[in-house]
Amino acid sequence: MTQSPLFLTPVFQERIWGGTSLRDKFNYEIPSDLTGECWAISAHPNGQSTIASGEHAGKTLGQLWDENREIFGGAEGTKFPLLTKILDANNDLSVQVHPNDDYAHANENGELGKTECWYIIDCKEGTDMIYGHTASSKEELVRMVENEEWDSLLRRVKIKPGDFFYVPSGTIHALCEGTLVLETQQSSDTTYRVYDYDRTDDRGEKRELHLEKAIEVSTVPHVDSLAEQKIEELDGVTITTFVKEQYFTVYKWDILGKASFTQKHPFQICSVIDGEGILHHGEESYPLPKGTHFVLPAGMEAFVVEGDCKLIVSHV
Ligand code: ZN
Repeated sequence: MTQSPLFLTPVFQERIWGGTSLRDKFNYEIPSDLTGECWAISAHPNGQSTIASGEHAGKTLGQLWDENREIFGGAEGTKFPLLTKILDANNDLSVQVHPNDDYAHANENGELGKTECWYIIDCKEGTDMIYGHTASSKEELVRMVENEEWDSLLRRVKIKPGDFFYVPSGTIHALCEGTLVLETQQSSDTTYRVYDYDRTDDRGEKRELHLEKAIEVSTVPHVDSLAEQKIEELDGVTITTFVKEQYFTVYKWDILGKASFTQKHPFQICSVIDGEGILHHGEESYPLPKGTHFVLPAGMEAFVVEGDCKLIVSHV
């Protein structure tokens, strides 16, 4: 049976490090000037996207996963596996690390682990990212954390728009001030905070750290997981494969003109991060302005994307 694409309404999350880029650059209606996260394609209970139109309008993505698994090609698992966010780091995020599946399952009420990856949509010139650390053993990591040797412990990497980073669970990392990122991750919300720059809130309180768990789950020594990118030039589209790993495969589709696709996966999730296009499917045409997020279900069969736009596309 032919199935139609599913367009999603995102959920916004306020964060102390957030800003207004999600309104300024994506035209979203955001709840405040401290909006940090757009949960664009999410079935996580902490913020679910809803279906914006069509026969399933108003249902959450999680509900659809539970009740209409045929849309997702009968994919397995009790939870929708992926979560796509756009993050506006107007200020530095805390230095953090996420657990893997086994650790999260045992210690965080059956949560999934969190392997994530980032496509840098925009950043200020000369912006850094924290990616990994310099400790060569757990003992050294503990000692450097205890002695607060943050400058020598944390590895800083220069970033620029268009860069891509794969961040497997166990990687110590942080986005820094002035970064706008599209994140594809496992559907999980478990973060262990390692260091928060000794910041305090308006009541003079520091945010909680989770040092013991963070040290337990951190990969030591750090492993650089920067995969080689594969680029394919096709009619109307350049496809860049950023990562093809256990939990997800992530591509960028640079559309210029008219590109024809056939659905080869149980489902794909897509985000328009720049420009504008049209999705043609059967008799229907759907506008794809920047900031549109949608699911291409199993039964899409053939479809065409036309325009001048960039999409980040993922599947399991
Ligand atoms: Zn993270």
